[in-house]
Amino acid sequence: MIKVAKFGGTSLADANQFKKVYDIIKHDTLIKYVIASAPGSINNKNNKITDLLYLCYENKKNNTSYKEIFAQISEIFNNIVDTLKIDIKIQNELEQILLELQDGCSKDYFVSRGEYLNSIILSKYLDFKYIDAKDIIFFDDNGVLDANKTNTQICNALKGIENVVVPGFYGSMFNGRIKTFTRGGSDITGAIVAKAVNADVYENWTDVSGFLMADPRIIKKPKKIEVITYRELRELAYMGATVLHDEAVFPARQSNIPINIRNTNFPLDCGTLIVDQINDKEDPKIITGIAGKKEYTIFSICKENMAASVGIIKRALEVFEARKIIIEHVPTGIDKFSVVVASKNVNQIENQISDELKLRCKAENIEVSNNIALIASVGRHIKNKSSIFKRLFGALEKENIDIKLISQGLSEINVIIGVDNKNFEKSITAIYNEFV
Ligand code: ASP
Repeated sequence: MIKVAKFGGTSLADANQFKKVYDIIKHDTLIKYVIASAPGSINNKNNKITDLLYLCYENKKNNTSYKEIFAQISEIFNNIVDTLKIDIKIQNELEQILLELQDGCSKDYFVSRGEYLNSIILSKYLDFKYIDAKDIIFFDDNGVLDANKTNTQICNALKGIENVVVPGFYGSMFNGRIKTFTRGGSDITGAIVAKAVNADVYENWTDVSGFLMADPRIIKKPKKIEVITYRELRELAYMGATVLHDEAVFPARQSNIPINIRNTNFPLDCGTLIVDQINDKEDPKIITGIAGKKEYTIFSICKENMAASVGIIKRALEVFEARKIIIEHVPTGIDKFSVVVASKNVNQIENQISDELKLRCKAENIEVSNNIALIASVGRHIKNKSSIFKRLFGALEKENIDIKLISQGLSEINVIIGVDNKNFEKSITAIYNEFV
């Protein structure tokens, strides 16, 4: 059995966290490949190294003070190495990186140095081999991951080798330049490595014991989700519930590798397991999780006998497409259909869009509703339970909450309702109390 374990920034923020990671890895010999993030912050008290690196780079570019920031970065790494008495010349590495910054190195190169240094330190501390991500993760000339080349290269580099540390977050382009993923991208590195080595599980170690059924800022002590499918996770993540980088799910899902979210500070908690299929016919929970976001706008196109007009929805969607506005939902009725978009994308051009919709769809009327929140109730058993709608709407009715929109995607595992922003928290509470 092979485990790939990725440790996030909070797990490797200082010497104390390094010790916890050491214990986790040394107690589990199945962990053969480790992916490391740059030191993060603990309880938001200090700055994340990656943020400091970005700031340092910008300041250098703008000819403002950057050496103080680099000194802060150096101090964090020196502290880890000194406290753990790791035999490594980290100061030489840091001086070299500073010189490269002064010589005009690229931004991606510079900001990736947090993962680079942390992985060198961790590999030495664990007595694991270090393999640089630049030699196994590849991006094409457009900066898009070259999944095939990467997969082959990882297989070749790791064949027959165990106990390896790889820095997360970056790789290289064909011309050798360093390229990073988007922020939080070490999760993706972990998933890519897990896929290439055909791991039995991809452990993603962070500072929470998995996914919660609802946002703890709204629901006091929400229950933890023990097990969730990739599809349910995608739906919840899209609506704002994030612990894992979105793109980290794909490589694991393609190879059907379960992802286990674990807490470095509570390693005995089994966390949340993300899997392809769950065979839980007995006592299934109807709702796996609830998530939502505020600030949406609904454009409703009203036209008598709309059902008989061919292409009307297409014409409406083109109005948004022309402006590169992402459409969230298109609930349809008989003589009316709606287009739901994030308000921030239409704030300045609402009237313009309404006029154009009216003209292009030959509509009688365009209604615009602002300040809408969308709430997704996600669960793999929803599709089999017609009574869920009754209960969901009943719970909201009891609280006198007016439902502005209902949409059930074809995935049938997600019921989305739209309510006024002001009713967002109240609605989530009502749904949670009804189903949990
Ligand atoms: N250190 C990088 C970031 O803060 C990548 C990661 O931690 O996953 O975005």
